[in-house]
Amino acid sequence: SDTQRYQAIDAAHHINAFLDQKALNQEGPRVMVKGRGVHLWDSDGKQYLDGMSGLWCTNIGYGRQDLIKAAANQMDELSYYNLFFHTTHPAVNELSERLFELLPGQFSHVIYTNSGSESNEVLIRTVRRYWDVVGKPSKKIFIGRHNGYHGSTVGSASLGGMKFMHEMGDLPIPGVVHIGEPYWYAHGGELSPAEFGLQCARELETKILELGADNVAAFVAEPFQGAGGMIFPPESYWPEIQRICRQYDVLLCADEVIGGFGRTGEWFAHQHFGFEPDTISIAKGLTSGYVPMGGLVLSRRIGAALVEHGGVFAHGLTYSGHPVAAAVALANLDALDKEGIVEQTRNDTGPYLQKSLREVFGQHPLIGEIQGTGLVAALQFCENKESRKRFENESDLTWACRTHGFDEGVIIRSTLGRMVMAPALVITRAEIDQLVEKTRRAVDRTARDLGL
Ligand code: PLP
Repeated sequence: SDTQRYQAIDAAHHINAFLDQKALNQEGPRVMVKGRGVHLWDSDGKQYLDGMSGLWCTNIGYGRQDLIKAAANQMDELSYYNLFFHTTHPAVNELSERLFELLPGQFSHVIYTNSGSESNEVLIRTVRRYWDVVGKPSKKIFIGRHNGYHGSTVGSASLGGMKFMHEMGDLPIPGVVHIGEPYWYAHGGELSPAEFGLQCARELETKILELGADNVAAFVAEPFQGAGGMIFPPESYWPEIQRICRQYDVLLCADEVIGGFGRTGEWFAHQHFGFEPDTISIAKGLTSGYVPMGGLVLSRRIGAALVEHGGVFAHGLTYSGHPVAAAVALANLDALDKEGIVEQTRNDTGPYLQKSLREVFGQHPLIGEIQGTGLVAALQFCENKESRKRFENESDLTWACRTHGFDEGVIIRSTLGRMVMAPALVITRAEIDQLVEKTRRAVDRTARDLGL
């Protein structure tokens, strides 16, 4: 069958992402062949409700003719051109005009990339360049967070705080350090979430003072932590981080690769959490994953300094602002905007998902905490709800739960002891009912495995 054929090719030739290839080869991956809206089909005809919008990216859903036509038309008109030879093209300019209409007013410039990892890779050189240009070349150190995820390349994986990634390949690179994650459920102890949020934020201040503010370039973080456990910080966290960054003149860099383009019900996640970053890393939802594209968005302060005083910035990517990607991104932003999909996420489908999850899992013996906003949510597995004791093998349990999910026809993600969902923003209430019901069955099966 096609399934076996593709599984054999995959086993022979691919080193796949974050998977034990040898173990995987024994079972063989599912072969996904078709997508429409929030639904996927595999090569055996089984249908799945995609609760993860691919990899937090197909915000507009699968199979949109407007995006497909935008790509085909642009390929026909001008399939490629660069921004190197003092040249530009319509597609990238149309996109930028639209993007800066959607972004808050403090942003003015963008460097386009092809992925989130690249956006964060570009961040390191751009921020250091900025401090050089404004006469503070000693400001070189980046502060990230434990279990932050900013990508898989050398620089981006260094900014990230995944221990097992650092162990593979001698990371982080020099000049990158980390502070704790605002994960109240795991580390909050007897503190209230508000007290814990402040304590975590003040770890940044301690670190800046230890390093010397004159040496610190930027703090880099996801507004809510995604791949590293789906952690929503207490409300007290971001305002205090903002105060500290301003006080010590440390740039605040928001990685919105997951959070951007409507996920929280706002266009950008920092708007939901109420802070003002100096840079925003974007990718994924920019094109709804139809083609690769990312970018590093810069505030006026940084953009103006680089343009007015920077001279040549020795930096460029062949595919920066690729016309086909730009045309698809524009069609995607137009659709999200004109169809009111972000407002719908904020006012209707987002609150509906959050309410449904709390109704179904609020009393569940396996679930200690439900977090989320808009169309992104996490279910925290726990052994004891009162003491917030977590299972020692929580990652095995969530992995099993995700496999039960596949069997039930729903794709939900396992991340460090939490089950995560982030469906396409076009999901309807009826589809949310299915998502929650199928997830309940997967979690119940995991509970039964444990004899609960
Ligand atoms: N930043 C965040 C917050 C992410 O979640 C990811 C990917 O999941 C990345 C960066 C890396 O993006 P990419 O996989 O497109 O390189």
